[in-house]
Amino acid sequence: MKIKGQVYQSTGSYYSVKDTEGNFWRARLKGRFKISKHTSSSNPIAVGDWVQMEALKNEEKEAVISDIVDRDNYIIRTSPQNRHHKHIIASNLDLACLVITVTQPVTSFGFIDRFLITTEVSNIPCVLIINKSDLITQENESDFHRILDIYKKIGYEIHIVSAKNGEGIDKLEEKLFDKNSLFTGHSGVGKTTLINRLIPGFQLKTKSVSEWSGKGQHTTTFAEMFDWPNKLNTAIVDTPGIKEWGLQEVERSNLSHFFPEMLALLPSCRFNNCLHVNEPHCAIKDALKNGEIAQERYSNYILFLEELERPF
Ligand code: GDP
Ligand code: ZN
Repeated sequence: MKIKGQVYQSTGSYYSVKDTEGNFWRARLKGRFKISKHTSSSNPIAVGDWVQMEALKNEEKEAVISDIVDRDNYIIRTSPQNRHHKHIIASNLDLACLVITVTQPVTSFGFIDRFLITTEVSNIPCVLIINKSDLITQENESDFHRILDIYKKIGYEIHIVSAKNGEGIDKLEEKLFDKNSLFTGHSGVGKTTLINRLIPGFQLKTKSVSEWSGKGQHTTTFAEMFDWPNKLNTAIVDTPGIKEWGLQEVERSNLSHFFPEMLALLPSCRFNNCLHVNEPHCAIKDALKNGEIAQERYSNYILFLEELERPF
């Protein structure tokens, strides 16, 4: 019997797959499953994938996955140590949400920009969610406004929320309706608390401060998808907290294509192979000078350009 279903969870060897009638199956990969046609990632099947299964035991709901349906899109995480090491975090997404905080912990521009490049490469719409708005004080409000200024101007949607006091939750909930949304961010930004707040009665386990602020970070990233109860076609893909986000493996000459504010200006550079470093008549450098492009973004661009020159 052939069954079609979507992968909700992966442990590396087993997958939890929901069929079109809503039953969950425990499935493993068929021995001869062809990995080759599905990128060079370490995992052939990811959360969000639609797959074909063959039932082994109908009663116990055990099956083998024999094929994968072509993905609409997918998010690849590259290892911060070696960008050639890739792992597909999730596929068939409508939205990618990066949860960030200006304090406890601080999310750096580097982390944000590496993530945004990933969503641009994957062509997945993305929103930034600034959580812990209740902790914004005189001391950190300039950091907060800087994030708003930079990313709103580029055109990224930003949601300001507090999982603690409920600010911005309704509007975010509206945004997520009828979508399959990835949630990611540093450990400790409040992603678990936020998801629990969004979905009443839903109890993801939150970690104590000592667990997220200490060492012992996750090295592998296994995502898990949850249906939103009582909302049709609405799901969230949760990921374990991520310490660093590796840089996508893109051609150096194309890097600026994944900075939307730069992409728009490229036709105005004199040289069409301009890398926007030292070339004369560079529209990007002009825009930097007149404040149109943020210094933080340009600095990261240069940093990433150098990083891509290194073999790993
Ligand atoms: P995760 O690692 O991103 O899943 O973070 P958690 O949801 O486990 O939260 C980490 C810590 O931040 C916990 O102590 C939460 O109580 C706290 N926290 C989460 N959201 C907020 C918020 O909006 N405001 C404040 N002040 N604390 C929050
Ligand atoms: Zn240029």
